[in-house]
Amino acid sequence: MQETARRKLGVMGGTFDPVHHGHLVAASEVANRFDLDEVIFVPTGQPWQKAGKTVSPAEDRYLMTVIATASNPRFSVSRADIDRDKVTYTVDTLRDLQNQYPDAELYFITGADALSNILTWQDWSELFELAKFVGVTRPGYELDVDHLEEHLRDSPADALTVIEIPALAISSSECRRRAAEGRPVWYLVPDGVVQYISKRHLYVPGNGKVDR
Ligand code: ATP
Ligand code: MG
Repeated sequence: MQETARRKLGVMGGTFDPVHHGHLVAASEVANRFDLDEVIFVPTGQPWQKAGKTVSPAEDRYLMTVIATASNPRFSVSRADIDRDKVTYTVDTLRDLQNQYPDAELYFITGADALSNILTWQDWSELFELAKFVGVTRPGYELDVDHLEEHLRDSPADALTVIEIPALAISSSECRRRAAEGRPVWYLVPDGVVQYISKRHLYVPGNGKVDR
């Protein structure tokens, strides 16, 4: 009997406040490079790294991510983190997805900035057992690959791969700043997300739409 190949699932975690083309290009490039069957976007619940900062309601971030990914048959969105009633840790995200898709091989996608912090993440050695990690380049952030590799000396060679992707100097922070100041976010985020931000008055100072 022929053995069926394990499904390869990308996992793109983020606050997605709002989701932008930098996220979408990162997911698409990694999917192509690793021949992934699907990329699951996982908006964070309460992001632990953003504690103390204001974040838009999870439901708005979830819906924007659905809008942005709806047209791509290989992209989907998971509620795993927003439905978990506590601060989001990546290790919980990966454990939940591993339980949900026990036969799949997980590829956790992360930008250079997040990857630099990886060694400060909780349970980072377990993280590498749950998923392969793929770091993508991001303008403005240098990656100290030697330092990371030093820490991963005892892990398999494919535990972490860093790939170069087309440089998009877009951040959610800058999109929020623009929206707050009435400047355009057209072409930085998908059209439907521009319209959703406007419909929900997101990022407008004093609109009361923040989770702390
Ligand atoms: P914020 O400015 O609020 O931190 P962000 O633009 O960094 O938002 P996040 O939701 O924090 O977006 O990021 C989710 C993931 O996407 C992280 O791994 C981050 O490194 C990656 N990422 C975000 N923007 C880019 C980009 N322009 N190019 C490559 N990777 C990116
Ligand atoms: Mg960020």
